Amino acid sequence: MKPKTLLEIITTRQRIKLSGLPLISEGIMSRGRTPEDIEIAIKIACVISFFDFIIFRSNPIKLYFINGESNFAGYSHPSMPGSPEESYNIYVANLSSRIKEQISFFKIISFNKDKLLRNTCSEEEYLLMIGAHEVRHRLQFIHNVKMFRRDVEYRKPFNNFVRYIGYVFEDASVIDKTDIEFDAKVVGEIFLSSLHKNKSLRELIDIIQMGR
Ligand SMILES: [Zn+2]
Repeated sequence: MKPKTLLEIITTRQRIKLSGLPLISEGIMSRGRTPEDIEIAIKIACVISFFDFIIFRSNPIKLYFINGESNFAGYSHPSMPGSPEESYNIYVANLSSRIKEQISFFKIISFNKDKLLRNTCSEEEYLLMIGAHEVRHRLQFIHNVKMFRRDVEYRKPFNNFVRYIGYVFEDASVIDKTDIEFDAKVVGEIFLSSLHKNKSLRELIDIIQMGR
């Protein structure tokens, strides 16, 4: 039998825990447009709640399914305008086709010395990165982690990732160019590169928590 992938292990474990919440049964069915949207939203919910549980243990927050397509997922903190409570949000509308489109051109980056390497990204890898990115946002607000910054020199290979995301930020017109987004993107890219190299779950969790 083929060994289970990390995403399969996480979804098998978390699906049982999540299915007990009214949020899942009522919220998601009315907000997903296709069975594929609902399937992907549940996978993302499983990944976020799994990483969140490992890092925050007894302090879980709500996870909302939103009928929107402004993003794939998000994290809200009461200090943000229009956020009454801490929560994770998953934007379910057309989620499956939006993720597929993103993956069609998205590349996993890594570095061999200073040489930039670009690999295709699987749906599984991309969903795991979304979870890492959102839980990193919670760490920024709750544990005040030392964030990656554009104007600081880091040791390798981290410096290569910081510089790469710096270029992406200069080029892109639509993405949110805040410090918290910069840090979460750097951490997400390092996480993805390590995931692609089959690093252990422990190492992946340590990457999400870097600077804590
Ligand atoms: Zn973000």
